[in-house]
Amino acid sequence: MHCPFCRHPDSRVIDSRTSDDGLSIRRRRQCPQCGGRFSTIETASLNVIKRSGVIEPFSREKVMSGVRKACQGRPVTDGDLAVLAQKVEETVRQTGASQVDTNEIGLAILGPLRELDEVAYLRFASVYQAFESLEDFEAAIALLRADHAYAGTAGDDDADG
Ligand SMILES: [Zn+2]
Repeated sequence: MHCPFCRHPDSRVIDSRTSDDGLSIRRRRQCPQCGGRFSTIETASLNVIKRSGVIEPFSREKVMSGVRKACQGRPVTDGDLAVLAQKVEETVRQTGASQVDTNEIGLAILGPLRELDEVAYLRFASVYQAFESLEDFEAAIALLRADHAYAGTAGDDDADG
């Protein structure tokens, strides 16, 4: 990486730290020629293969816009969506894969979206899982009800563990 000040082709790392979410490393560098200091941020590349076969970099923004449609009229804020998109990225990165398909992204969205808003979850699941009939909705709702009943007996915390 060239020095941004004098274009010297080399630099020395003087400090490096992992970001709070553990997904990137920030390095402080110093140019041995002009002494200028600058930072670089390093993240593992993560690509998404779309249904069309097109490959593009993972984008939290795209996760948010996909989920936002399902959240119309629901009490979900952009802040909630940002947290959800971060969880999705963490889930996907934890698999260690550098390339995932949109299906896996959809799967990673379902869990946190369900915690956020069950109506939005049903809307999203109906598109993602291609619900075709009322029975599909009824089955999904029955699953939610069953989990509520379970949560009722197990206490409010962490019923999905
Ligand atoms: Zn320099």
